[in-house]
Amino acid sequence: SNHAAASDEANNKADAAHFLFVPLMAQGHIIPAVDTALLLATQGALCTIVATPSTAARVRPTVDSARLSGLAVTLVDFPLDYAAVGLPGGMPGGADNMDNIPLEHMLSYYRAIALLREPIESYLRAAHAPRPPTCVVSDFCHPWTRELAASLGVPRLSFFSMCAFCILCQHNVERFNAYDGVLDPNEPVVVPGLEKRFEVTRAQAPGFFRGWPGWEQFGDDVETARAQADGVVINTFLEMEPEYVAGYTAARGMKVWTVGPVSLYHQHTATLALRGDTTAIDADECLRWLDGKEPGSVVYASFGSIVHADPKQVSELGLGLEASGHPFIWVVKDAARHDETALAFLRGLEARVAGRGLLVWGWAPQALILSHRAAGAFVTHCGWNSTLEAVTAGLPVVTWPHFTDQFLNEKLAVEVLEIGVSVGVKEPVLYQVDQKEIVVGRETVEAAVRSVMDGGEEGEERRRRARALAGKAKAAMREGGSSHSNIRDLVKCFE
Ligand code: UDP
Repeated sequence: SNHAAASDEANNKADAAHFLFVPLMAQGHIIPAVDTALLLATQGALCTIVATPSTAARVRPTVDSARLSGLAVTLVDFPLDYAAVGLPGGMPGGADNMDNIPLEHMLSYYRAIALLREPIESYLRAAHAPRPPTCVVSDFCHPWTRELAASLGVPRLSFFSMCAFCILCQHNVERFNAYDGVLDPNEPVVVPGLEKRFEVTRAQAPGFFRGWPGWEQFGDDVETARAQADGVVINTFLEMEPEYVAGYTAARGMKVWTVGPVSLYHQHTATLALRGDTTAIDADECLRWLDGKEPGSVVYASFGSIVHADPKQVSELGLGLEASGHPFIWVVKDAARHDETALAFLRGLEARVAGRGLLVWGWAPQALILSHRAAGAFVTHCGWNSTLEAVTAGLPVVTWPHFTDQFLNEKLAVEVLEIGVSVGVKEPVLYQVDQKEIVVGRETVEAAVRSVMDGGEEGEERRRRARALAGKAKAAMREGGSSHSNIRDLVKCFE
């Protein structure tokens, strides 16, 4: 098998690096964490990834396929002790992921996650485990991994599935208290400490776990753990945002390894189709559909794993896509997420656009679709992985941010990289909460899609910039490229 040499090396070498990955149990965090682990394993490292059971199940096919190809990667799952955090009934259906835990239980959920430290340690100490880890790579949302790493006696790196631009903006806003005395959460504030001028609002970019009543202590713990990390691993690449990678490195005074775009670990249809979860559409059927379309002609619309769109908003998006006249693939997620009216609307639209528009009722093989030559643009909520996957595929984006880091990712796409057209959302919609009004009308959707697809000279330039970035992304991951060298360096550093 193609990776057997790397695996043999890792297993036979007494001093091979062994990374313990502790991802956040959310698709947008665990997918890139798994890809990063696989990339480190290709350079001869051992990797152990820990996860909760139903979340682990989603990425197990990817890990199994990597093991079969010869990589020394182990995925271990640990059930959560909900009773210990005052949720005696557990979670319906064994929910243990950010996309299926009700918002009102989220803080307890984070507490239950922190209790995994002991079972993880016992597992690692047990005889059947691989040799002890030499480094913990934990999501920045897991402050408790500081104690885990200390008790294992190894360094801890913070893992970010965010861009350096976003992390630096948030860092500067917090460090310079930019929101102090700003009463209106929608009042624009200039991000301090950057050469270029960017305006954000507290509502758009509050900082992680900031502004949620009851989360103050947790937010402080996350910040302390970030400041005390031994280094940072980011799913981005240097050539896309050199000044912000340098800026964050300087601001933190710690080593930063940019290792992306990590989705490029997947070079073949077979493993691309396994990525993240079981797909609701057969990958071959999807590819056949795309094969039948002109190069660069298909608009892909998807809002990631967490956003639950309001029914009124769903129909405006659908009507906008329909009116644009372009072929499209629209990920509407599973039927259970929609009410009767929305379902009737979606079924009606699906019938009207048959042949030209493909609706995906659940998990889509996103990276596979975006890398197909028929893909032409991406209507995205600006989750960092989606944004970077668009860059990797050389596609311009229609930006429609909802919450967390998405407004800052939109700024990177539109104002820094100049590959995006914004639908103009100014205020966040909180997830799992119904919207009162339609935020973006069908005409706006149609105009934005037309602008990225047929936008004349300007559209052509946007597309050229996106393609050039994709070239740089691929070069970064090739032998001798910046990310490839960083991956190699990481493995060397922790042998
Ligand atoms: N994804 C996918 N199929 C889907 C929805 C999402 O493969 O139907 C993947 C997508 O390619 C990305 C991740 O899930 O890698 C979503 O991460 P992102 O940061 O874009 O958004 P989030 O889900 O965290 O809001």
